[in-house]
Amino acid sequence: QPITTDMETLTKQVKKFATDKKLEIETLKVREEYRREFLGNVSHELKTPLFTVQGYLSTLLDGAMDDKKIRKKYLERAEKGVERLVYIVEDLDMISKLEMGDVNLELKKFNIVDLVQSVFDLLEMTADKKNIILMFDRKYNKAINVFADQEKIQQVLSNLIMNSIKYGKENGTTEVTIEDLVNEKIIVRVRDNGEGIEKQYIPRLFERFFRVDKSGARSEGGSGLGLSIVKHIIEAHGEKIYVESEFRKGSEFSFTLEKHQ
Ligand code: ADP
Repeated sequence: QPITTDMETLTKQVKKFATDKKLEIETLKVREEYRREFLGNVSHELKTPLFTVQGYLSTLLDGAMDDKKIRKKYLERAEKGVERLVYIVEDLDMISKLEMGDVNLELKKFNIVDLVQSVFDLLEMTADKKNIILMFDRKYNKAINVFADQEKIQQVLSNLIMNSIKYGKENGTTEVTIEDLVNEKIIVRVRDNGEGIEKQYIPRLFERFFRVDKSGARSEGGSGLGLSIVKHIIEAHGEKIYVESEFRKGSEFSFTLEKHQ
């Protein structure tokens, strides 16, 4: 801007400069707070599985190794801990890319019916362990094509279906349905009849690292990043995600996608 000698304009410019700087500082403060909180959460999340692995390995080295049965059991547990670490690191990588806006969507036409089926195939064994039936109505025998990033939508489906199994009840069901909406959209619903979510927690579900059960006592406990990854992916597509849940009755997570002829 040209330098002015007019007092009134000068005062205005100085004031504007001060406000801009103040805003800039506020933004930096918020970012710094975010970074600090994020790092705190990350180390907290990594600690539990790391200590688990360390514990089993030290016990083995201290002599437990000599017993063949114990050796196998402890090595398997240590492996589980490492597996969990890998999942957490992968989720962290994904969430930081998504939050920095560092993700390019590769949009293309694909059949969402096939994608649901392939995620079911991948998770069938996990569901079997809790005797949970994965249901997808036979009426979906013809293709429903959408226009989206297939790999990312696979992750969305996988996270939601995995949650419905983790928080579902033994002998329960997980049901996926697809419906047409107006404006060339479809809505995909993933419903379970599991533990449900108390009302007060619902607004916080999509926050990263948020978990209803913080104790970490449950063995299935993930990183608390799954749903925030899901929300980011859906919003990056310009679509919407919804949740409805009744405590002790079950939950339904649903999201919209753009249809492709
Ligand atoms: P996590 O790794 O803990 O599963 P998510 O971000 O996927 O993290 O989910 C956050 C929290 O939301 C979970 O810890 C759980 O308390 C709750 N939640 C998610 N999906 C369901 C569901 N289908 N039924 C009940 N609670 C759920």
